[in-house]
Amino acid sequence: MNTEVTRQVAALRDTVARLHRELTRYDLVAWTSGNVSARVPGQELMVIKPSGVDYDDLTAETMVVCDLNGTVVDGTSPSSDTAAHAYVYRAMPEVGGVVHTHSGYATAWAARGEAIPCWLTAQADEFGGEIPIGPFALIGGDDIGKGIVSTLSGHRSPAVLMRNHGVFTIGKDARAAVKAAVMCEDVARTAHLARALGQPVPIAPADIDSLYDRYQNVYGQRPPAH
Ligand SMILES: [Zn+2]
Repeated sequence: MNTEVTRQVAALRDTVARLHRELTRYDLVAWTSGNVSARVPGQELMVIKPSGVDYDDLTAETMVVCDLNGTVVDGTSPSSDTAAHAYVYRAMPEVGGVVHTHSGYATAWAARGEAIPCWLTAQADEFGGEIPIGPFALIGGDDIGKGIVSTLSGHRSPAVLMRNHGVFTIGKDARAAVKAAVMCEDVARTAHLARALGQPVPIAPADIDSLYDRYQNVYGQRPPAH
């Protein structure tokens, strides 16, 4: 690795390690499940969580650098979901970050094999409509990655509920993918509560379109306030 790539990898090790704290902060993960990865921009490399390490012990140094076939370049044992992350990076060049969780409410929808209908303006903003269901797929090999890519390609949603499994999200970078994972669980919880109360009211497709367009193209490009 040249000096610039070494610098990028070091920065992403730190970013990815820190972003894992958001998964515990928002109560999206149990024990060592769940993982965040980031593509190293312009390189055939990614930075991902190690396998089986407690969240409290995740540091920049413990993150694992792999190539986009999932082969370790620097570090020890990467997440058992590395093949799925690698597949997404190979198939979707616009994706810079991938997150996986078994967050409770969203995974309950996945267990039912049911997409989350768009009943909330916050869902229209972030997901542009329903949050789709992906196929049932066993871990190991490319089946999970293929299911994520086939479901999310051409779809507005950055989140897919893999059937009987959990949530995978994508983003332009790892932070955006983490945000989608947090918002997916929030929407899944409220949608569940709404349906428990009775029949939720759908949002008209034209209104979903204008909410999504405003949030993604106007609100989303506003520079941060701090
Ligand atoms: Zn999983």
